[in-house]
Amino acid sequence: MVKFEQISDSVWAHTEGDTFGHVAFVKLEKSIVFIDSGYFPKIIKQAKEEAEEITNLPVRYLIITHHHADHIFGNQFFEDCEIISTKDTVDFLENLIKTRWTDEYIENFKKENSEEFDILKIILPNKTFEGEFEIKEGDKYLKIIQTDGHTKGSCFVYVPDESIIIAGDLLFSEEIPYFGDTTADPYLWVEAYQTMIGLSPVKIIPGHGPVTDVKQMELQLKYLKQCIKWMEKFIRSGGKKEDLDHAKDFPMLDYELYDNFDTLFKMSKERTFDVVKERITN
Ligand SMILES: [Zn+2]
Repeated sequence: MVKFEQISDSVWAHTEGDTFGHVAFVKLEKSIVFIDSGYFPKIIKQAKEEAEEITNLPVRYLIITHHHADHIFGNQFFEDCEIISTKDTVDFLENLIKTRWTDEYIENFKKENSEEFDILKIILPNKTFEGEFEIKEGDKYLKIIQTDGHTKGSCFVYVPDESIIIAGDLLFSEEIPYFGDTTADPYLWVEAYQTMIGLSPVKIIPGHGPVTDVKQMELQLKYLKQCIKWMEKFIRSGGKKEDLDHAKDFPMLDYELYDNFDTLFKMSKERTFDVVKERITN
């Protein structure tokens, strides 16, 4: 059984880490909106069943916050739902299927990984939006807001009546954020934090790490601003991308480091270099 924690009257989340990217759901009047489909398909199948059991309502919508594998690999169990994402996320996924997640790649991936993946099928969202999107049933509604930042196409879910934000990977709670995606943009991520903080959420469900509040987000906002400032100074004083590895004073937060941290953090620094360099030169 996949245990969900009730966050508010109509919001539940599963943040124990066994889905890799967290999953959550919002109860509307007649149906459920599920958010992200995690990494391990078999656990997601159970999670969907558990959500329907808790609320006695069917899942009719799945919102995908961004294109990363640990947020979309369970999509196949939602084929009878509206699977909603930004247009940028679908564009990205379509390109990934052509260039990386080919049939051959997926077959090899299944062979090399545990039997958790033997049923894996990549399913694309079937409904897209740009900017903002609203789902409403009677008096109950939620908003999806695109900000980009963590990736081009990243969005978050806002439940206005209960002041809850489901941030996807626009928040890594108590972890150093990953900003190494080839479309990550730290400047847009800063704006994304500001937009979410401006909504004064009482609780925030992150894509990774524990459920938290606005203080955690303010800390991360400050951190990302420090990273940008550091990089602007580094580039202006002639720093090269290949010197980043030796730059020991790049900002850090005092958190426990996750698996594969060095590689991912290197990617984050290099991506920041590229984005900042482009801003400075243009
Ligand atoms: Zn992500």
